[in-house]
Amino acid sequence: MTFALHGLAVSHGIAIGRAHLISHATLEVEHYLLPERHVGEELARFDQAVAGVRTELDALMAHADPGAPAELTAFIDLYRMLLTDPLLTEATRALIRQQRCNAEWALVQQMEQIVAQFEQIEDEYLRERKADVVQVVERVLKMLMGRPGHPPAHAQGEHLIVVAHDLSPADAIQFKQWKIGGFVTDLGGATSHTAIVARSLAIPAVVGLHHARHLIYEDDMLIVDGARGVLIVDPDADVLEEYRRRKRALEAARAKLKRLKKAPAVTLDGVDIALAANIELPGDVAQVQAVNASGIGLFRTEFLFLNRDGMPGEEEQYAAYRGVVEAMAGNIVVIRTLDIGADKSPRGVDIARTGPNPALGQRAIRYCLAEPRLFLTQLRAILRASAHGPVRLLVPMLAHAHEIAQTLAMIEQAKAQLRERGQPFNAALEIGGMIEIPAAALALGVFLEKLDFLSIGTNDLIQYTLAIDRADETVAHLYDPLHPAVLRLIAHTIQAGARAGVPVAVCGEMAGDPQFTRLLLGMGLRIFSMHPAQIPEVKREVLRSNRAGLRRKVARLLALDDPVALRRRLARLNAAAD
Ligand code: PEP
Ligand code: MG
Repeated sequence: MTFALHGLAVSHGIAIGRAHLISHATLEVEHYLLPERHVGEELARFDQAVAGVRTELDALMAHADPGAPAELTAFIDLYRMLLTDPLLTEATRALIRQQRCNAEWALVQQMEQIVAQFEQIEDEYLRERKADVVQVVERVLKMLMGRPGHPPAHAQGEHLIVVAHDLSPADAIQFKQWKIGGFVTDLGGATSHTAIVARSLAIPAVVGLHHARHLIYEDDMLIVDGARGVLIVDPDADVLEEYRRRKRALEAARAKLKRLKKAPAVTLDGVDIALAANIELPGDVAQVQAVNASGIGLFRTEFLFLNRDGMPGEEEQYAAYRGVVEAMAGNIVVIRTLDIGADKSPRGVDIARTGPNPALGQRAIRYCLAEPRLFLTQLRAILRASAHGPVRLLVPMLAHAHEIAQTLAMIEQAKAQLRERGQPFNAALEIGGMIEIPAAALALGVFLEKLDFLSIGTNDLIQYTLAIDRADETVAHLYDPLHPAVLRLIAHTIQAGARAGVPVAVCGEMAGDPQFTRLLLGMGLRIFSMHPAQIPEVKREVLRSNRAGLRRKVARLLALDDPVALRRRLARLNAAAD
């Protein structure tokens, strides 16, 4: 029977294919009963998984980078201890025997018991150790289930649509290796990092569908309409034909836009506009070159830290950054320092560390300043890459003058370390700050004085201005890029930068959405950074715009408080001939 689910549109495009259901690496496990004769095999399967995790941890310990933080080895030790604790292993075996259930289910039942006991503990430190139990259990579950979520090789391809309750950015980035047609999730907001990865993959996706994972069966026929945020399940022949037609039309329109590849991005009144690319992994550079981007405006380096055990060391990071810089052959590469926390947490980073409200907790520069060894390692790697081409360093989530001062001091320290080693770097490396916290946008003085450039992160600026968790679909309807407060903060930052002679870019999702191109041009923006796939459409808008005229119109639009009038004015602005 055909039915449709409505969620949040994440990326343009239509995918038509068969459902593949996955559980991401959470504790969502199946429950089934076993015939008596299979209980012994199940126990052996469980023992093997535990032994497998023990081998993994031993290998991790043996290969730990000598410069790795002491906490990392302490964690590995703690995990090894938990793994041999009879409360976890023997009790799980007992449950498998008594209830004749599968090992995954028994393990999660036992974990919940242990976690409940931890919650009774008064000592906060000990109470928080429950997160370690959960992490160990996750590792065993992964071992039991194979790497969860990987579709079988024969099932991969553009006709496969992944259906999940939730996907972390770390899960989604793996889709860069598998080939899939699209994905849909029950949870997630349209500017969550999972959605951002979907956009960077240029695959259709819809998030915030609430019940998709329960309503859809493996192999169901699906249509993902990534532009409208609609998922159609089991479409009839007419609907299928209509969507096939729309898909062909979209592909033809995209192919036409490709002709703009060589055209310089200049407005009708002759203003050069830089259209740079956002990347997550070094492998994304090919896509950047394919659209002839002016450079890389945002390299989200934290993705190098996900889906792995332990943090990448200095040499590995240096090789990754240098590879990107060399591939970009003289074009600017803006490398952002680690922005972990909130929805991006590498394995081995204590969940408790990111706090009860992770988006407001120890994220990005706050985390880096609290982990100086890790931060210095990254700074040295970026500085060394700067010897190979025009690199700029960008710091996320700055709000306070003392954070800027501390960061600059750490950069000086990293430079001194490299000088001591005799390793080359660009001593005049430009340092920029992201403007993504309203406090920063409102008190720009110190940013303009101490930094060489600014880049507005509209995704977080909207989240923090409107107090909306960008990853939470239940408040997604309140996440509004056109809220007058958001627009005024963006315009103010661009204009203050222009007055002070400090270049300002926008690298949040607004920069890649063609419905905002003219609005941003009219605010005076000249540097946009977005997913490579979005560049052709934004360029088309730039080419048909008269910047001087837009500046006058946008000044009037910014004075509006009424959201309906504001939207109407924007629609007129976008529909106008220039
Ligand atoms: C932003 O916040 O707009 C941004 C570009 O950074 P991220 O999406 O990685 O938080
Ligand atoms: Mg951000």
